[in-house]
Amino acid sequence: MLRSALLLFTLFLVGISNAQDSSYAKEMIDSLCAPRYHGRGYVFQGDVKAASFIERQCKEKGLKSFGNSYAQSFTLGVNTFPGDMSVKFNGELLQTGVDYQVNPGSQKINGSYKVLYLKPNMVKNQEKILKTASKKKVQNRFVVIDEASENAIIEEFSKGINQNPLNAKSYVLLKDKKLTWWVSRRTYNTTILDVSKEGLDKKIKTVDLAIDQEWISDYQSQNVVAFIPGQVDSMVVFSAHFDHLGRMGKDTYIAGASDNASGSAMLLDLADYYVEHPPKYNTIFIWFAGEEAGLVGSKFFVEHPLFPLNKIKFLLNLDLMADAKKGITVVNGSIFNDAFDRLNAINERESLLNQVKARGAAANSDHYPFYEKGVPSFFIYTEGDYKHYHDVNDVPENIPLTNYSEVFQLITSFVKEGF
Ligand SMILES: [Zn+2]
Repeated sequence: MLRSALLLFTLFLVGISNAQDSSYAKEMIDSLCAPRYHGRGYVFQGDVKAASFIERQCKEKGLKSFGNSYAQSFTLGVNTFPGDMSVKFNGELLQTGVDYQVNPGSQKINGSYKVLYLKPNMVKNQEKILKTASKKKVQNRFVVIDEASENAIIEEFSKGINQNPLNAKSYVLLKDKKLTWWVSRRTYNTTILDVSKEGLDKKIKTVDLAIDQEWISDYQSQNVVAFIPGQVDSMVVFSAHFDHLGRMGKDTYIAGASDNASGSAMLLDLADYYVEHPPKYNTIFIWFAGEEAGLVGSKFFVEHPLFPLNKIKFLLNLDLMADAKKGITVVNGSIFNDAFDRLNAINERESLLNQVKARGAAANSDHYPFYEKGVPSFFIYTEGDYKHYHDVNDVPENIPLTNYSEVFQLITSFVKEGF
């Protein structure tokens, strides 16, 4: 009786401690995705406020800083949408981020406009383009381009649309693909709306809109860097970008729960783990800013390192950790073969994930500037059913964190084995 009660109690404790892993991550993800951080972009200083939040966590955990601050500042130029964002077709209001998105390089615009549907023969050659532009008076119109029409001429023409080849007022690009937003570090001399064709039941005749836009030439952003001292001179670096796309107008923000509140949260969780299990290597945690703007924070870091990069035994960059139902993919896995084989062997031995897949080099996250400088590095992302990416649905409620603890264990076991 007593024994089975003890067993039950033990199971209960194990249950709690397992649940604790992802519940702490979940709590951190919820915080990082809260409206007060505005999607961790450049409107309302979202990324600065999110950095302060992470710095507070570092301080609470007792992590050390290089110098007297966890923050490493840098500046970047960025195009932003801090105010009005409303679009009506034929008098009907569209839903921002769902029915349409503003191309991130767009200019501000305000007013009521007629439209011109672009037909392939209008842009067949350079001469036709100029004729179309002068005859149809496009400088005061919205030109609608149906990218979903699968016409090669249209497809080719729309590729150069941010150059405003027709000298039109603005453009509407009709798309049959999912809308995927990004960050632009330049401003075009036009406005482009990406519109989901799915929700559009009739031809567009008029466009009424108010889009507020602001170019910030010297936005001050910052990486957050902390560490736990080890027993040897060399280092292990864990990195994750905490920035995301920010606001598309004052009322809509892209939370970036998977990308990359999830990796940022796992880094905080790893910090807790290494506070409790003092590491052999100096263990560095870097939350990068400016990743979505083109790896700006990590590129800055490798040019202004806070410690010699050649002391890094290995760097593990975590991005998109929402759902490891199918396993993980390891960028650089087919480059650092020995390390990858070791990772795979641990996964088999400890029966963790369904699959650990190797990929070659790719400049798709913050490991890359380090890799270019000769630092052995992996970028790990999860593979599962989660599909929300750079859109309004990448929110905490949607991310399952499947196999979160397994990924966590794989990473800590990999580092524990040593280099
Ligand atoms: Zn990302």
